[in-house]
Formats: sequence, structure tokens, C-alpha cells
Amino acid sequence: MGSSDRDVFARAAAHAIAFRQGLATRLQRPEHGYAEALADFAGPLPETGADGRAILDDLVDRATPGLHAMAGTRFFGWVIGSSHPVGVAADWMTAAWGQNAGNHAAAPAAAACEGVAAQWLLELLDLPATASVGFVTGATVANFVALAAARGAVLRRLGWDVEADGLFGAPPIRVIIGEEAHSTVFSALQYLGLGQARVTKVAVDKEGAMLPEAFAEAMAAAADDEAVIAITQAGQINTGAFDPLPAILPSARRHSNCWVHVDGAFGLWARACPDRAFLANGIEGADSWATDGHKWLQTPYDCGFAIVRDAQAHRRAMTIAASYLPAVAEGERDPSHYVPELSRRARGFATFAMIRHFGRAGIAEMVGRHCRLARQLADALRAEPGVAVMNDVVLNQLIVRFGGNRSREESEALTRKTIATLQREGRIFAGGALWRGDWVLRISVISGGTSEDDIDVAAEAILEAWRGIRS
Ligand SMILES: *Cc1c(COP(=O)(O)O)cnc(C)c1O
Repeated sequence: MGSSDRDVFARAAAHAIAFRQGLATRLQRPEHGYAEALADFAGPLPETGADGRAILDDLVDRATPGLHAMAGTRFFGWVIGSSHPVGVAADWMTAAWGQNAGNHAAAPAAAACEGVAAQWLLELLDLPATASVGFVTGATVANFVALAAARGAVLRRLGWDVEADGLFGAPPIRVIIGEEAHSTVFSALQYLGLGQARVTKVAVDKEGAMLPEAFAEAMAAAADDEAVIAITQAGQINTGAFDPLPAILPSARRHSNCWVHVDGAFGLWARACPDRAFLANGIEGADSWATDGHKWLQTPYDCGFAIVRDAQAHRRAMTIAASYLPAVAEGERDPSHYVPELSRRARGFATFAMIRHFGRAGIAEMVGRHCRLARQLADALRAEPGVAVMNDVVLNQLIVRFGGNRSREESEALTRKTIATLQREGRIFAGGALWRGDWVLRISVISGGTSEDDIDVAAEAILEAWRGIRS
């Protein structure tokens, strides 16, 4: 049991630095898949303890082959931020400080820092300054929290207290949602007792954005006194498309009891970029918003924000009103009042650090750059015979189909082969997705440091993979 705390922390820093320094030159995919990774970790339950530094070295040895270069600049898979070093370092301090950040009496610095970061977020995203913000694990839980507030508010207007009395016997709630909403919103509906399947789906355009006429029709089907929750989206996972809030909101607002929510896991950040903010116009008129810290803000995993216009509804939905919890005076903010958890990580520190590091200008620059680079990559790819960019590249997402005018089946086979070659080669990483019946290569430009050079490498890697398959 030889190593001191100092040895252990210093060792972790050395390993972390070595890992980050190797990101640019390593294979941009794990060397070991899941089965091999299981074998890398397998072993009997240790009967006795071991030295801290040796454990750390061993952990690094076992984990390294199964690590993805998600923190690098040539990772374009899913929609995944790159855990910026400043945020990671702030997160190390968070762990080292060991604060249980449930309430302001136990953890004053954590609660205060989170409160300030919350105000900054509202300002950056140009949302109402009086809205409440819950710091959660990601957009899935942010959607859950915001929709819990929605559920409580629309039922309260009908004289039903869902927080006290639950859903048995409650008036039904009509849930309206776009056909191309993110799967995790359905998870939130599942957790809330609103049901994944018990929804009215609204038809969308070719980019996956709700058709205003279809939305108006869905609203018109609701009775005057019915409780309605309309779930919209800012930033479709494949296309980056935005539901047109300016066209949708008026029909929602004509109804007496409709709560409008926006799932803006990454797309909400368009509002922090003057060049792209037009895409997310009108979103400030909604009732609640969910977004991520660990996507475009580049905080380490995990971090998301549940933002609610009616702070009371937010608190009612989440507060654990046990008598042993210190009471909150007017103007004081307890982090746990806005999230499901009591004991929790102080996510405000990393959020505060990232916003301070970038500043408003740095965030605008990054979002603008990612969107510009996505268009640049799309231009390079669509110039090649047999390659089609399937979406309007308005944001940072693009989807690509290989095979030209060949049948859907043939194109899928060619696209899958191209993706397999690209991944095996490992110069960049991107994966496949199903988009309205077509198998596509999906590319998300969202890693903090991604540059023009990275995009050149990506274009070359993708085109070489495709040319090899085509011939
Ligand atoms: C990523 C994403 C989510 C889920 O967010 P997590 O942070 O993974 O929980 C929800 N909606 C959209 C549109 C997303 O892109």
C-alpha cells in the first residue's frame, strides 16, 4: 500500500497527458472490440487490496486498447463532444474536492458556481433570464426533467396535483411530437408514465422538421380543455434540422393548456452563434428546453441542462420536500431542487470553467467553425461521382449515401462497405445510420479543436474508401 495520495494523483495526470498527446497519431478507433475488452478486464474478485499507483497503471493497460479517440479532433461519430482539457481539469478538481452538491448549505461553492453558470447559460442561449436550470447527466434526463415540469403544470391547470396524487385517475394528457424526434425523448415519456407509444406523431419535411400544417392539425384535434404537451426539436440527429417554432408556436398558443418543449441537445447552441442563430429563431417562446453540456460546450461527460420558464413548475416536479433538508430562503438556490437526484456531482464547476475559457466569442467561433467545416466536407464529398449528401447542411451534421442511382439495397451494401473500410483504416471515425429508409454515413463535426486540416483528412479518407469499394 505504498503510494501516497500525491503519487496517485500525479500518476493519473501523467497518464492523462500521455493519452491526450497520443490522440492525433493513434488509430481513430478502439483496437479491441467489446468481447476483447471483456477479456482485458476479466478476473476473479480481489480478496485483498493493492497499491493505488499500481492499480492505476493496470487500469490504463487494460482500458487503453478499448478506448475510442472521442476526445480527438477526427472523431465524427454520433454527436459527441470532445471533453475539453480545461473542463476535464475542472472536473478533476470537482472530484478532488469531493463535494456532495445537493444543497447550498452543505456545498456553498458548488451551489453558487452552478447558479452563476446557470445565468450565463441563459444569456448565451438567449433564453428568459428568470428561467430555472437543472444540471443533469445529459439531454435524456434534461428532457425527462422538463417534461416532468410540463406534466405537472398542464394537469395543475385542470385541478390535478400529479406530484401528490400520481397519474391514476388523472385527466389524460395529449402528447404531440415530430416523426423524427430523438429516441431518448421517448425514453423520457416512458419514465413519466406518459407512454412511448401514446403520442400523436406529426409529419415532417424531407429534413425531418415538423410541417406546420400537420402540427396545426394535431393541435386542432385537441379538445379546448384538454392538457397538451408539444415536443419540438432543435437539431435533428441526422440532418441538424430545426422544427419551425415561429410557425408552430401560434397554433400551440391558441390552445389554453399547451406546454411547448424543445429538445435542443446540440441544436440549441446555434443560438450562441450569431451566424447560425436564425435557425433557432422563436425557440425562446417555448416553455422548456433541454440541452447538453457534453456536446457543443465540450464539458467532460456527463453534463446536460434542463431549462424551464416556470421555475415553480420545475421545482414542484423535482423537489424532495423532506423536513431534514435545510429550507431555502428567497433568492437562494439548491441544485437538487431542479434535478431528480439528492446526492450529486457538482457539474457546475466544469460548466463554469468551459464558459469562462471560451467566452461568448469563443463559443460563437467554435459553433460557426463546425458548421462551416461541415459544409466544406459536404462540398468535397458531393463533387465525387456516386456520392450523395442527403441533407441540407445547415448545421454541423451531414449524412452521405454511396452508390449513385443504384437501388436502395445495392446502395446500402456499398455504403456499409465504405463505412467498414473507413473504420478499419482508422484515419477518422464516423459510423452509419438509417435515414428514412437509406443506410447512410453520418458525420457530426462537433469536436472542439476540429480544423480545416482534419476535414481534409476526413474527405480524403472517405473518398479513398469509396473509390476502393466502387472499383
Ligand atoms: C444526444 C441527443 C439526445 C440525448 O442526449 P444525451 O446527452 O445522450 O442524454 C437527445 N436529443 C438529441 C436531439 C440529441 O442529439
